[in-house]
Amino acid sequence: MRALWWEANDKKLSFVEDAVEPTVTKPDEVKVKVAFSGVCGSDFHFMGGEMGKFSTKPDGVVLGHEFSGIVVEVGTGVENIKVGDEVSVDPNFCCENCVWHEEKKPQFCERNVAVGVKQNGGWAEFCVVPNKLVYKLPETVSLDGGALAEPYSCVLRGWKLMDQLPMKTAKVLIQGAGIIGSMFACLFHVKGYNNVTICEPHEGRRNTCSGLGFGYDVIHPQELDLLMAGKDADTHGFDVIFDCTGNCKAVQKTISLARRGAFISMFGCCPAGEKIEIEPFQIYWKELKISGSFINPFCFEEAVGMLKILNEKNLLDLNKIGVKIFELSDFEAAFASLKRGDAAKAMFKM
Ligand SMILES: [Zn+2]
Ligand SMILES: [Zn+2]
Repeated sequence: MRALWWEANDKKLSFVEDAVEPTVTKPDEVKVKVAFSGVCGSDFHFMGGEMGKFSTKPDGVVLGHEFSGIVVEVGTGVENIKVGDEVSVDPNFCCENCVWHEEKKPQFCERNVAVGVKQNGGWAEFCVVPNKLVYKLPETVSLDGGALAEPYSCVLRGWKLMDQLPMKTAKVLIQGAGIIGSMFACLFHVKGYNNVTICEPHEGRRNTCSGLGFGYDVIHPQELDLLMAGKDADTHGFDVIFDCTGNCKAVQKTISLARRGAFISMFGCCPAGEKIEIEPFQIYWKELKISGSFINPFCFEEAVGMLKILNEKNLLDLNKIGVKIFELSDFEAAFASLKRGDAAKAMFKM
């Protein structure tokens, strides 16, 4: 079968046509014929060796952890899913036999054999996964939109980490209008927030985000500087900031943009080992709540349900949210498009 094979030792990604097609060998397994498979920012971090302990399988793996497809085979013990179902796959799971499982924090399981990271994933024609990771898509949700279930599950996780929901009038700042920034914009819109600013240096991405039609301010970082110039952020800053850049400079700046009492999510993944400067006094003075957000515990099912709502609001239209579709063999063009910023997200159509 066709696949993109990542060789960690040689740091090389190759398109192959003779990858071994996986088969169902255990009663709980499901074989998915992949339909759409996204490229995630973390894939570049995996390939760059920037994920700390969360590294790819050392002797080679098929990457791809955001995908949808059609079930073509199920193990003898599978009852929740049947052949022909259109599904999306949660790539993460806990061994269910560790302290993190007991503490209900499965995202920290050190034996998470994540699909597309530690075991073969969705940048391939077929993928075999345990049935507990497979979620049937709502009938109205198409397979291309269904491939967004995983990133939306992570976005929901970031949302849920706000210990209390901000008031609807809260001033919200989303840093970065890549696909994750756009997804947060959609989420704030769906939840009824109006006072949202999105900051993004790339013009094309700003246009995509403005095109969502929420009436949010979509501005260049220099405009944000002008907006805040001469204002005391203590009272005129932002109540909620989601950093979706994974850029240390942008992250560092968030502290100075925060209003007293603000919640800051460092959602974007900055490369492991990089550092920023923080004045701890500001955290004390402003009573800042700063949160990380790692993968998607207990959020996948809700994300699949949300796809239905987004679809009803015409927000699962991939073109509209800046997703560009590529052939698997065109992966270099897909990556180049992402690096240039003209695609908010790249997705392989199998
Ligand atoms: Zn991802
Ligand atoms: Zn575990």
